[in-house]
Amino acid sequence: MIDIEQVVTRGRIVLCALITAPAYAGATDGELRATVHSWAESLDLAAEIISGTGDNKPRGSGRSHVTVLGNPLTAESTAAIAASITGTGGNIDRIFRLAKYPVTAVEFAVSGVATEPLRTALATAAADIGVDVAVVSAGLQRRARRLVVMDVDSTLIQDEVIELFAAHAGCEAEVAAVTARAMRGELDFEQSLHERVALLAGLDASVVEKVRADVRLTPGARTLIRTLKRLGYQVGVVSGGFTQVTDALRERLGLDFAAANTLEIVDGVLTGRVVGEVVDRAGKARLLRSFAEQAGVPLAQTVAIGDGANDLDMLNTAGLGVAFNAKPLVRAAAHTAVNVPFLDTVLYLLGITRDEVDEVEDAETAELV
Ligand SMILES: [Mg+2]
Repeated sequence: MIDIEQVVTRGRIVLCALITAPAYAGATDGELRATVHSWAESLDLAAEIISGTGDNKPRGSGRSHVTVLGNPLTAESTAAIAASITGTGGNIDRIFRLAKYPVTAVEFAVSGVATEPLRTALATAAADIGVDVAVVSAGLQRRARRLVVMDVDSTLIQDEVIELFAAHAGCEAEVAAVTARAMRGELDFEQSLHERVALLAGLDASVVEKVRADVRLTPGARTLIRTLKRLGYQVGVVSGGFTQVTDALRERLGLDFAAANTLEIVDGVLTGRVVGEVVDRAGKARLLRSFAEQAGVPLAQTVAIGDGANDLDMLNTAGLGVAFNAKPLVRAAAHTAVNVPFLDTVLYLLGITRDEVDEVEDAETAELV
């Protein structure tokens, strides 16, 4: 026996074996064929025997995993993705369903083309047909990815924290207008941060507790973090928001790292200033490097997730940058994009299946009981 592979799908079994011709005396090719056919017949299987010489041809060099997320995933989009892979000269070695909810996730194992040109071709196809496609190179590096760093506002949580503060200060409209301009990259982040925080001057510090209670996690956030932690990943957040909120999230979600700006509070009142070094676009990338160093994880094995222009340096510094329901500018510049509102779908980009995710969830539930 040189090789054996088996696949069971939809109640059908395909079993392939590569064997050398029988070496023992008296055996003939005809006898082998007769034996295989009668065995197959007795099990109600169809057998096919092909003779040849040598082992399997090695697969083409350049291996990638292409993950496609669709809700629903249509036959047309699947065909378009497959055609696009073929167009690059790549071969689809295997197709495998990772998940059927909250979206359908299918993984294509592709060989024969380098990851970069494949990613470029599929980014165009994905935009045309409106599905999310992630291309990552196969191999040990993918399995070794060990640090995930997320943005907070509109990524880990559904809210923009400064807007929650503004709601309590009655200056929502002013703050929202500045935030939107900053996120579109039209304003320098640091300047806009100072402008917005200044609007909060004079607020009672008790507002911090209220804002913490207002925060709504993004669907799938807990599942994402729990699964990653179970798999031994370290998980951190970096935010252009405030430590008054991120520290609470760190505690609540069991995060390994958290960094953000700190609102200055004097005599129980917000002063309208931040203290310490400002976490801006460059600061987020710096913090990713620092977390990676502390975690002992090479940058190539980090994953960053974010939605805004100030996440771009961080997304490009990480081994895999995921634009999460991001503005077009960010989507275009990141390695990959997720445009469904479920944070746990990022797990599929890492090749983790829904069954594996559910195993973790079941184990957590059992522990609670
Ligand atoms: Mg954000």
